[in-house]
Amino acid sequence: MNFTQQRLQRLQTLQKQRPQFSEIFSFYLALYTFLDAQTDAFLTMHPQMANREMKQKEGFPLLTSADLRVDRQKTDDFLRRLAEILETNGHQGKEELAHLREVIDQGRLSTETLFRACLDRDRRPLEEGANAAEVSPALLEYVLDTALSYALLRAREEGLEVSTENWNRGYCPCCGGLPSMGEIFNQDGMRRLHCATCSTAWNFPRLRCAYCGNADPESLEYFTAEGDDNHRVDVCRKCSCYLKVIDNRTVVADLPMDIEDVSTLHLDLLAQKEGFTRGKKEQS
Ligand SMILES: [Zn+2]
Ligand SMILES: [Zn+2]
Repeated sequence: MNFTQQRLQRLQTLQKQRPQFSEIFSFYLALYTFLDAQTDAFLTMHPQMANREMKQKEGFPLLTSADLRVDRQKTDDFLRRLAEILETNGHQGKEELAHLREVIDQGRLSTETLFRACLDRDRRPLEEGANAAEVSPALLEYVLDTALSYALLRAREEGLEVSTENWNRGYCPCCGGLPSMGEIFNQDGMRRLHCATCSTAWNFPRLRCAYCGNADPESLEYFTAEGDDNHRVDVCRKCSCYLKVIDNRTVVADLPMDIEDVSTLHLDLLAQKEGFTRGKKEQS
């Protein structure tokens, strides 16, 4: 089973288990059905392997924006169809998505620059690109992130490998992205973090904030939601960020974490009500 099929299967199970989120699952089912049907790679990665071990030790992720190869025509074609799927199956931004499709049709979206900016988490080109396309930066970022995530997951499935051993940073060893979910398996004091962008997983101390590096146990806490024993939310009072964590001492392991992320919105709402925000990068 490939990664798109694994996600489709998990979404079908979730739709039965958590009917309150049925609308969200239907949206992602449509998205992954579309992704599962893709054959041509529009974006490929060509990482520099020279001095890789040393670079990794110094905290450099495997991929830099210079390693991306963008096939302009295939990319435009993919983005146009992706926008159409989002427009048909989502509830938000329908007009903007229709407009974005026109901009892509006219060849006016500088896709290569924008994907590089996405990987570098460089907001300025994204904002400029959004202004030029007359869509909101948030919408453009969502479309590009979805496409980049798919391309990275696919590249990983097709053999792009990164060593996660001895990686002790709060960001992804493969693409530099931030974790969106964590897992705990036992009492060894570690959490397994999962990159929000490419789904690479690596171990990280439980008592350290992945976002700001804070390791003071006084300001690191967690809470759980009533009636949900399988999850907890780790919070850092220093940078006010939170991380949703699956407790795999109680549930099955090896779930696609990006899908677990969208199926635990009740935890985001709780954390945000308490004044915490999703992790942002503060230090390397
Ligand atoms: Zn990553
Ligand atoms: Zn923190």
